[in-house]
This record gives sequence, C-alpha cells and structure tokens, in this order.
Amino acid sequence: SDEQREFTQAVRSASNHLMVVINDILDFSKIEVGKLELEVVDFNLRNAVEDTVDTLSVKAAEKGLNLGIMIHGEVRSLLRGDPGRLRQVLINLLGNALKFTEEGEIVVHVALDEDEPDRLKLHFAVSDTGIGIPANKLEGIFEPFTQADASVTRRFGGTGLGLAISRKLVKMMNGEIGVSSEPGKGSTFWFTAWFEKQAVQEEPLRRFPRSLERRRVLVIDDNATNRKILHLHLESWQFPHIEASSGEEALTKLREAVAAGDPFRLAIVDMQMPGMDGETLGRVIRQDAVLNETRLIMLTSVGNRGDAARFAEAGFDAYLTKPIKQSSLYDCIAMVMEGGIATKAKLTPPILTQHTVSDARKAELAILLAEDNPMNQEVARRILNKHGYRPVLVDDGRAALEAYESGALDLILMDVQMPVMGGFEATAHIRELEAKSGRHVPIIAMTAHAMKGDRERCIEAGMDDYVTKPIDAEVLRAVIEKWTADLLKAESAPKPPVAPSPPVAPTAPASVAVAAAPAPEAVPADLSRLQQLAEGDKAIVERLINLFLDDAGQHGKLLRDAVEKGDAKRVESEAHRIKGGAGQVGADALHGLAAKLEGLGRNAELSLAGEILAAFEDEYRRVSGFLRGEIGA
Ligand code: ADP
Repeated sequence: SDEQREFTQAVRSASNHLMVVINDILDFSKIEVGKLELEVVDFNLRNAVEDTVDTLSVKAAEKGLNLGIMIHGEVRSLLRGDPGRLRQVLINLLGNALKFTEEGEIVVHVALDEDEPDRLKLHFAVSDTGIGIPANKLEGIFEPFTQADASVTRRFGGTGLGLAISRKLVKMMNGEIGVSSEPGKGSTFWFTAWFEKQAVQEEPLRRFPRSLERRRVLVIDDNATNRKILHLHLESWQFPHIEASSGEEALTKLREAVAAGDPFRLAIVDMQMPGMDGETLGRVIRQDAVLNETRLIMLTSVGNRGDAARFAEAGFDAYLTKPIKQSSLYDCIAMVMEGGIATKAKLTPPILTQHTVSDARKAELAILLAEDNPMNQEVARRILNKHGYRPVLVDDGRAALEAYESGALDLILMDVQMPVMGGFEATAHIRELEAKSGRHVPIIAMTAHAMKGDRERCIEAGMDDYVTKPIDAEVLRAVIEKWTADLLKAESAPKPPVAPSPPVAPTAPASVAVAAAPAPEAVPADLSRLQQLAEGDKAIVERLINLFLDDAGQHGKLLRDAVEKGDAKRVESEAHRIKGGAGQVGADALHGLAAKLEGLGRNAELSLAGEILAAFEDEYRRVSGFLRGEIGA
C-alpha cells in the first residue's frame, strides 16, 4: 500500500544516511592508521570529472541550481592515479556546495597548475553561491567533526568528517586543499593533486568533419557561466560562434545574419530564460520562413518525462541536459549537423537525446557474461537486455578465456566460483595476456560473498570492480555504466563477433560463504525481486522459476549423494550452486540452509551435514511446492 511504501522509503533513506556516516568513519579511521592506499590506474580525467558532477544533476535541478563544468583545454585527459578517491573528494565538495546553496549556481573548474614530462599538477575548484562561511570558522572546518554552525538546531545534516577526509586524501595525492568564502555570497573550495601521465600519446582533440567547419553557431543563454562553458567547447572545435543573452536578442542576431547572407546553421538554446524561454524561441524560429533553416539544440536541466516529445514538437532537433559534457555536446552537434554520425546513419529518431546517442552504442559493446548458474545467467542477461546491452554468455572460466582470446571484448562480468576454471584464475590468465598486449578489459566480479575484504580480494585478483549476488538490477546497471562510459563516448568501431562455447558440467569450486540463519516462519520464497525483474511479465517469472526448479532439483540430488559419500568438496560446490538460485527466487530460509551446508563442506566438517540436509530438503519441498503453486504447475 502507499503507506507501507512510504514507511519503507523512510527506512531506506535513513539507512542510506547511516551508510554514509559509517563509510565516512571507516574511511577516516582507515586513513588515520595508515591503511588506506591509493590506486594507480589509467583513467580519463574529463570523463571522471564529468560523470561525478553528473551524478548530482538531479539534486541540483530539484533545487533549481545551475551546474557547470569547466575543464581547461590544456588539461590532459589520459592520466594515471586513483579516480575513485578523486571522485570522493569532488563528491564531498559538491555535496556540501549543494547542501549549503539555495539559489544560483555551482561550478567545477579544472586547470593545469604545473606540467612536468611524466606528471602534472591539477587545480580543482568547486564554487557555489551559497550561505558562505564566517571568517573565524574557516580555519576549523577541515578538522574532523567540525561544523561551521554546530548548534543543535542547524538545518543541515552531516558528520563534519567530509572535509577532514578530503584533506587527508588530497594530501595523499601530494596536493593541498583550501577555501575562500564570503558569508552570504558563496564559497570556493579548491584543491590540487598530482597525477602521472599515461605513456600513450594524448588522443588528438576530436575534430568535426571538414564539411562542418566554419559553420556559424549562435549560443543563447541568459547565464554567463553557461555561455562561457559553451564558448570554451565551441572554441576548442574551432566553430565560429556568437552569443546572445535573451530570446529577443537572439532573434535580432538571427535576422541580421540572414540579411548579411551568412545565416547561422545552428542555435544552441537554453530552456530556462527570463522573458522568452527556450521553447518559445524555438517555436518562433521554426515558424519564421526566413530563419527556419537553422538547426536547433535545446539545453535543459535534467529532463522531465515528456520533454523529448514536447521539444520535438516545438521544432528542436535535439536536446541535451546540463551539466554540459564535452563528449555529449560533440555527439549531439555532429548528429544534428550531419544527420547522424556515419555508423548511426540508420538511427533517425524524431529527436536526439544523450540517451539515443549512447543507447545505439550500448548494443554494440561486446560484453561477456561468465556465469555457470542458469538462474543467475538468465537474471543478469535480462537486466542487461533491459538496458540495451547484448551480452554473450559462457559457463565457465575456461570458456571466458577463450572468448577473450577470440575477440575484442569491452567488458567481462565474471562469476567467481565456476567449474573448470574459476573467475580468479581466468582473470589472472587474461591479465597475463594483457601484460603483453597492453590492453585492459574491465572485469567485474560477481560474487556471492558479502564479506569484508572481498572487494580487496577481487581487486588483488586483477578485477576492476565487483557486485554481490543476488544481483541487484540497479547496482549492476550502474557498475556497467561506470566501466563502459569511456567506450560509449569514444567512437566505436564494429567488433568481431564472439563465439560462446558449449556449457560444461560443473565440478568443484572452492571458496567461502556466510551462513544466514533461516527465519522460522517466513514465506518460503519472496518473489518480488523476480517480479520486478520481469516487470510483471508472467511468462518470464515462470521461466525463471522453472529454471530454478530444474537446477535445484538436479543439484539437490547430487548434494544428497555427496553428503552420503562424505565428499566435502562436492557438498560445498553443490550447496553453493543451489544457494545462488535460492537467493534469486527470494527463498531466504533455503538460501541460509544451503549456505550452512556449503560452510560445512568447505571446512570438511560433515558430522552435522545429515541433519542440516534433512532440514534443507524439507525446506526445499516447501519452496518448490510454493513455487509450483505460483506458476500453476
Ligand atoms: P558536514 O558537511 O558533514 O557537516 P564537512 O567536513 O563536509 O562536514 O563540512 C564541515 C562544515 O563546513 C560544514 O558543516 C559547514 O558548516 C561548512 N561547509 C562546508 N562546505 C560548505 C559550503 N560549500 N558552504 C558553506 N559551508 C560549508
């Protein structure tokens, strides 16, 4: 019911707040005892900064704040360092800016501070037009647990740890952090950091086809910061352009240009302007026989549903959401002016958005899904399909390795425990091959262990990231987006197809799991997860349930056999297998019992196994009876 939904949402939001606090405290103490180490990995600075700022765009739009990014042209993109920690500092500063600003704007600046042959020092600044900080408080705010206004009645939450952590992280990046602020006017938090340069040559600045060069562009925005940002981008692509700060001024300039025989080919129009807004301006231009030739791009803060249709109807060719990202702007201009980038010629939606641009590329990504459990395979594949990805499936690590060798993969989702060859081993082989080729395919572990240190183990094994099972659709989507963002931005070349190999019978993997105590009188299986995944499609729920019943039925027998023969290794692997499926169908008690058996097998301690197996089998009958009832089988 609505009421229950509200309560759960409140619980969820409170838990998320607590998570933030706990993570802050953990981070802080980790740094305190010198246990935090920075990663040194290749990353793309522009993408890292743009994506980070982008994550706050919804909140900024809700508050009506303008959000801008200005990365200076001479700042190199291909760097080495710890993008995760850089992002953390930026998020801290941006989060504060958002928290303490009611109107106006937040702008992120990145400039080059010092340039050496192998490394460089960057200067980051986050400026806001918020409440500011009194001069006598400026000193203290970087100290842990310190807040400028510490009264009990202060309006803003927080722990007072964000800036202290940021200062420590910045120090680890050999930089400094500081602030200048004027109460009532706003604050600018800045920091510096050193990064290594990647050995590869910096990609040459993307250029537009010759046919597009020297076409004139009109930028229409009342906000000077946005005009400046657009100016920087257009200038870097050598587009001659002129600015107007209102709709009325724009119309005058458009008409003058036509009269002078050099009309504007493109107008980039901000939606939110006092007086004539962007949409009205677009309609006027479209209905004017003389101006009608000019192409139109709408700039708006995070879109509302229905925006695309409305802007298309008003006569816009495309729309982009703020903050403006260099690559999206590029794609958008290219598609609007050329009628599509060469590879996307077929794609002619009525209006282009950032999503259209990247969706077409998503389907082209070569994503490999290595997972032996058919349930998990189906679930992951469905999540991927839903978001426009077309993964190739394999059943074990050996097959994953073969797929890797036979084609250019963009991303690998790798189960950790698989027969024939586990995920860690396959990853190690791949990384070995890559040491020669110099490539790096992101590998994301999918693991059933939600144990402390798991992330570290995956990273140590050469994986880039990890998600825990049962797979959460949102988490998986986010992690894939994170690791393919660069590819979606880069122009993609067609990839040779990857051949999946035939499934192989499972053998014994080895690993850990946490046992959860089953709740005594719980529902046998909570199908809400599956239903959500299937978006109410009964046929899909049914298929997933059947997959589970087949698999668990078969492996249940093998489990009994293993317990009877006292084969601890097989007890572990069979129980692990069933545990995975049980998690997906929301059979928590069954999942808990399977986890217990798995643990017994792992510790080669089977004296209690018979008893637990009996409980397991009882529970399995309950679950399967319930599931069969659900699908009317
Ligand atoms: P928290 O935000 O959790 O309280 P921080 O360490 O991030 O802790 O910030 C410490 C204090 O510095 C804040 O409580 C606030 O008083 C002040 N502060 C930080 N950023 C800003 C900002 N952009 N504008 C105004 N005050 C700020």
